[in-house]
Amino acid sequence: MATQRTLSIIKPEAVHNNNIGAIVSRFESQGLTVVAARMQHLTKAEAEGFYAVHKERPFFGELVEYITSGPVFIMTLEGENAIARNREIMGATNPAEAAPGTIRADFGESIGVNTVHGSDAEDTAKNEIAFFFQDGQVCNRCYK
Ligand code: ADP
Ligand code: MG
Repeated sequence: MATQRTLSIIKPEAVHNNNIGAIVSRFESQGLTVVAARMQHLTKAEAEGFYAVHKERPFFGELVEYITSGPVFIMTLEGENAIARNREIMGATNPAEAAPGTIRADFGESIGVNTVHGSDAEDTAKNEIAFFFQDGQVCNRCYK
């Protein structure tokens, strides 16, 4: 397995509910490391750009409205097999179908309002990280 980086977003309802720390802790305790982070309130244009892959889906308008409803907490996570690992820790898109102990099972409200975003493949991870972070804003972890 290779070390990978993936994009994670803590969505507006979880930020509003003060659950940033609880969610980051899930990632840290399960082997992923934060290598970039920023809070940002996305504009409609930014949200439409980020979610452009979904623009033909019936819920696109709802998705853009939700993700712009308040600030989000955007991170790059790093670790062994980080893309799939993040998706496992997140759980299924629909919180009602998410495995027990996953973030979406424990914090998600509905298939739309589901607490976290995570990249789904190597190419989308690369593009999504670049959408939010410049190279110099993602840190190689080192100490002393
Ligand atoms: P995931 O976030 O698990 O990768 P998708 O990429 O399919 O899921 O969808 C992107 C986001 O769009 C979901 O996280 C969710 O917020 C929203 N979404 C997905 N399916 C629906 C739906 N049927 N109704 C409303 N919102 C949805
Ligand atoms: Mg997706």
